[in-house]
Formats: sequence, C-alpha cells, structure tokens
Amino acid sequence: MAQSDKEFYRNILDNLTDGVYFVDRDRQITYWNQGAQGISGYESTEVTGRWCGDDVLDHVDDKGEKLCDGSCPLLETMDDGKPRECDAFMLHKSGHRVPVRIKASPIYDDDGKIVGAVEVFSDNSPKISAVQRAQELEKEAYVDVLTALPNRRYVEGALRSRLSEFQRYGWPFGLLMIDIDDFKQVNDKYGHDVGDKLLINVSETMKNCFRPFDVIGRWGGEEFIAIVANVSEDLSFTSAAERLRSMVEESELHVEGSILRSTISVGGTIVDGGDTADMIIKRADELLYACKDAGKNRVKCV
Ligand code: GH3
Ligand code: MG
Ligand code: MG
Repeated sequence: MAQSDKEFYRNILDNLTDGVYFVDRDRQITYWNQGAQGISGYESTEVTGRWCGDDVLDHVDDKGEKLCDGSCPLLETMDDGKPRECDAFMLHKSGHRVPVRIKASPIYDDDGKIVGAVEVFSDNSPKISAVQRAQELEKEAYVDVLTALPNRRYVEGALRSRLSEFQRYGWPFGLLMIDIDDFKQVNDKYGHDVGDKLLINVSETMKNCFRPFDVIGRWGGEEFIAIVANVSEDLSFTSAAERLRSMVEESELHVEGSILRSTISVGGTIVDGGDTADMIIKRADELLYACKDAGKNRVKCV
C-alpha cells in the first residue's frame, strides 16, 4: 500500500467515534485510535506497546470475571479466525467502569496467516431513560431558574388545586402577594447581578418561613406568591405574613464589603366562597398596593 493510502486509512480509523485497537499475536497493543481514547480516557501513547491483558484495560464481564484470564475475545478470534461480539466493562483511566460492546476480528498477513486482531468497541452506557428525561423536563418546567423556587406556572396550578379542594372539602387557604420594595434602586445602584443575588437571598429567607405543604413561588420579576394551607383564622395568617416581612427585613446580603438590606410589602387574603383564582389574586394585589401607598415594608391582610 502506498504511503499516502496508509495515511488516508489511518486518518479514517483515527477519527472514528468507536474505539479501535489492534493487537499482535502476543496481545501487545500496536494501534489505538482517538475513539478508544474518548471512551477509555487513555491516550495512544499510554497504551500502545503494552499488553492488553496487562491490567491496563482490565475488561470484565457482568459478573466481574476478568476476560483476559479466561475467554479473551481477541485471543479466541486469533485462535479460530472467527469474529466475535460480546459485552464487557472496561476500566476507564479515571477508575470507573464503562460498559462496552466489543467486536473482535482477526488480522491476516498477505499469506493468510493470522498476525493479530482488531477490537472495535463502543460505549454501551445506559442512556437516561425516556421516562426519567420526561420527569426532569417536567420538573424544569415548574422551577424558576434564578431562585430555584416554584415558578408562576406551578403557582397557578397549586392555586387551582387549593381552590378546588376548598370548594369540595371546605379546606381554607390564604394567599400572599409579595413584592420587594424599591428593588429597581438596587439594580440601578449595584447592577443587575447584585439585583439577582438579592432575589436569591430574599427567596431563600422566604422559603424557610413556610411549612412543607405551603407553596412559595416566584410570580415574576420581584414579585412572589405564597399559598398558605389550612388557615383557620385571620390572626394566624396575618402573623405568618408579618413573620415573613420581618424575616426579610432582618436578612442581609453581603456585597463587596457592604451589607445590603431589603424589605417587602405583603398583601394577604383568605379564600372566600364564590372566589375564582383571579379574584383572590386581585384582592391580594390591591392590598399589596395599599401597603406601597402607605409607605412599604408592611403587611395588609383581610
Ligand atoms: P416598588 O417598591 O414600588 O415595588 O418599586 P420597585 O423598584 O421594587 O418596583 P419596579 O416595578 O419599579 O421595579 C422592579 C424592577 O425589577 C424592574 C426590573 O428591571 C427588575 N427586575 C425584574 N426581574 C428581575 C430579575 O430577574 N433580576 C433583576 N436583577 N432585576 C429584575
Ligand atoms: Mg417592587
Ligand atoms: Mg413589582
């Protein structure tokens, strides 16, 4: 074969995504392509010249039995000239096991004598199941990326559920509409990134103010909605809202050596017979704006 032909074929082999390696009759590795490097972590210079049974690749079957000691597909294919396929686990350079599908075939010289073998192997790791992926996507669809709180879509769904439970079983709940005071000034003075950090900080504080069966989510921008379950009397609901306001006021964000504080205004309302989701939100929103008009950093519930 002319030198340029050799180069040509070598390039093709090198660039396959499947792992390809050659061994001679003693199972010494004579060639190792880039695909093999990608799957195993080993570069060609680290493995060529070594013996493939020499614990470098350390293939085992699914019971952990070493292939090199028993039924090495390369050895068998060199003995009987028949190609074979099997599943195995190879040892990645960084120590973990990688499941691989192996195909071994003999290599002949011009006289038809077997002078070695070639192994082609592909990564056989179980791909994430479709069900798992769907669940992840579903989760992502309900989570606000910045604050990791439930997002608006989730809050809307939760509100619908609480409302229908209220209509069916009479389980009362309250809704808090929460808005950070003078948030625009934070962005203007410290920049958008600090604004983001403050949103995360306030979210973290608020998350810790609710019980596991309550919902606190990001409604949009610097507005949040909390759905507080099982509020039987106005007093406990108002005190929950007041505790929330106070906890945010007492929180600190440390930025570049200075301490940033923020406050929230909260409008709260308890579900009433005949309410729709929009009516509840509107009522809470009006109370929130009454707080803003009255000077911010306060709670109004009815
Ligand atoms: P008020 O006390 O009346 O609520 O005033 P405010 O400044 O908090 O409210 P305003 O509605 O004037 O401004 C809200 C600002 O929030 C404007 C918008 O740019 C900013 N904002 C909305 N979403 C984000 C965000 O994800 N990150 C940051 N950094 N800013 C945001
Ligand atoms: Mg605001
Ligand atoms: Mg706002």
